[in-house]
Amino acid sequence: MGETVKLTACFKIEGEVPDMFNLYKQLVNELLNYAFLKNITSFKRLKSEKYYEMRGKYPEFPSHYVYTACQMTCSIYKSFRKLKRKGKAKGDKPVFRKDVIMLDDILFTLKLDDWVAAIATPNGRVKLKLLHGKYHEKFKYWKIGQAWLIKRNNDLFLNVVFSKDVEVEKPINVIGADVNENNVTIAKPNGFERRVTGEKNIRIAYFLKRRRIQSKIKGGKIRRKLLAKYGEREKNRVLDVYHVVANWVVKEALKSNSAIALEDIKNIRKRIKFSREMNGRLHRWSFRKLQKIIEYKAKLNGIPVVYIDAKGTSTYCPICGAKLSPNGQYRTMKCKRCGLIADRDVIGAWNIRLKVLKTDRCGEPRSRRKPPNETGGRKGDKILQNVKPPRTVTR
Ligand SMILES: [Zn+2]
Repeated sequence: MGETVKLTACFKIEGEVPDMFNLYKQLVNELLNYAFLKNITSFKRLKSEKYYEMRGKYPEFPSHYVYTACQMTCSIYKSFRKLKRKGKAKGDKPVFRKDVIMLDDILFTLKLDDWVAAIATPNGRVKLKLLHGKYHEKFKYWKIGQAWLIKRNNDLFLNVVFSKDVEVEKPINVIGADVNENNVTIAKPNGFERRVTGEKNIRIAYFLKRRRIQSKIKGGKIRRKLLAKYGEREKNRVLDVYHVVANWVVKEALKSNSAIALEDIKNIRKRIKFSREMNGRLHRWSFRKLQKIIEYKAKLNGIPVVYIDAKGTSTYCPICGAKLSPNGQYRTMKCKRCGLIADRDVIGAWNIRLKVLKTDRCGEPRSRRKPPNETGGRKGDKILQNVKPPRTVTR
């Protein structure tokens, strides 16, 4: 099976670009007004109706800037409409305020041997040195897609989309991974394991830090700068943890020649609800981000990822299918019918794995699909009556 992995890399730019941001903003906003008035979300239509007019109006720009402005306009207007439908849109009409310019393969080229980008500008092509880290080295052999030129606090960045075609093999087994706010629990063919991410503590620490800054420094540029600095640090610390945990899940999948099963995002809302009482601002758990990191790392290693419907994964007994009830103890659940007592994250991971095995989506041979201790029969009851919580490994 062939699949494509797409990743966006962010580079800081050394060097200057002629200031095109305001002009580009003006161009996009003009297009946005038109799209809004005529309710146009189709790039083709917007281009056919406005491209030549805008080229005449903005002759200083290389023509493809008008082209990418049309693309950006359509996606901005589309997301505005979406927000509007949910009642979350700011203002009555879409306005583009960011210092962002979209570049396609005609407007920029990238030489990865020496990390130099050449960008078309009103004053001709400008060469820019990209600052890169160890993380970026792997992109040297990837395909280059579109890019965004971004200005933030007077620094310039280039976000580039890279893609790579990978061969994904058909595995013989499956691992169920339950992604939780403070840990990831996996159900392997031979047992359960858990990694504590400690994300909750990181979030709380930075939440308190933000509050202190907000109460001590009243408004102004310094406060904004400090908040941005700590926001960036928080994001990076959490991302580091995500990468470590994702590497572990992928390693486990490789060891047992397994596919990785994850829960489909659509059904996560019910879980968010139960921690919403904590605090809206505290709750920044990026569940989907962690899933996406696991997914691309898996694919790069030739491991397929399947998403299963999360419905019932934390509420039904993986052995007999009865509804589970809380066991009084912290985070454990009990089955009244068969007597199973287990940690709720273990049950989540276990059910995720079982769902895939039942739907036969990982290609496991029929005879091995239901190991004896995972069938609905009474035989397994004794073995599973006291399922121990998995080994907890803290980083
Ligand atoms: Zn049961």
